[in-house]
Amino acid sequence: MLAIPILLLLLIFKKISYLQAGKIVLNILASLYILFYVLWGKIYPSGENNFTKLALRCLLVESGDRKILIETGIGNHYREKKLQNNGVTSVYELEKSLIKNGISSDEITDVFLTHLHWDHCTGAVKSTDDGLQLTFQNANIWCGKTQWEHAKVSNIRERTAYHREALDFMFGSGKLNRVEKEGELFHGIEVRFFDGHTPGQMLPFIRTADKTFVYTSGLVPTAANISLLWIASYDLDPVKVMEEKQAFLVEAAEKNYNLFFEHDYYTECATVKNKESRIKVKNILSPICIEVLISDAQIINEVAWVLIFYQLFG
Ligand SMILES: [Zn+2]
Repeated sequence: MLAIPILLLLLIFKKISYLQAGKIVLNILASLYILFYVLWGKIYPSGENNFTKLALRCLLVESGDRKILIETGIGNHYREKKLQNNGVTSVYELEKSLIKNGISSDEITDVFLTHLHWDHCTGAVKSTDDGLQLTFQNANIWCGKTQWEHAKVSNIRERTAYHREALDFMFGSGKLNRVEKEGELFHGIEVRFFDGHTPGQMLPFIRTADKTFVYTSGLVPTAANISLLWIASYDLDPVKVMEEKQAFLVEAAEKNYNLFFEHDYYTECATVKNKESRIKVKNILSPICIEVLISDAQIINEVAWVLIFYQLFG
């Protein structure tokens, strides 16, 4: 008799949690394209030798029987020197963060990669004494087909951004799915492609009962990048990034999207407003997880009680 409400609960329920996959540091000159670093320093703090701290923030979306991990950080492939140069303190942060949330790696059903730059995806594979292994053994891996093709040929500028061995291993595992079309990928999660940062970057739009959360990845990596001209020197096509960012942020302001920033060390999530054609931060939000749970749980309760009533007395 309770089957329908329970089914509804499985379909509607969605929990979103932050996971940390560590931090990196970046020279301030790499964080911007056409601005003087003096300006950037006023908005986003930098420390010794102009190095800025960046987060490697992943998301865990629990929806029905799926546990979807968005991004995986850098994993344990890199030599000490590279880790030191990039200010990486621990390569096991994601594992610890999952444990903190009561989830084991084997429970992850899906790994969603926005794009294949080293700091976003190489944690999907781990180096062991017996060679490479999938970190999330039972998960299907998803990334955009265009990004996959692009990563294979790459270009002189992006070449060091891709970890060839880890990508080849993912492909050989038979778990890799290349997404070709925009639209719903999982229940309540739509994908859209943005090409300026790197071709075929795939961003998830996560819908709950009354909110939309967008994991903005390389399109808007930090809250400081909300200003139109503030883009990273890593962006492959700067003009395209500005055009994509402008259209997206106007929509985000209009529809009150909650934006998750993967790389912002200081700000996890924010909404934006459009004031006299300038997009600015409206509210900084944290923590989100509880908010989502409450909003969905209320609706589930209401629907479930109505159905129980009709099954008992209807
Ligand atoms: Zn990137």
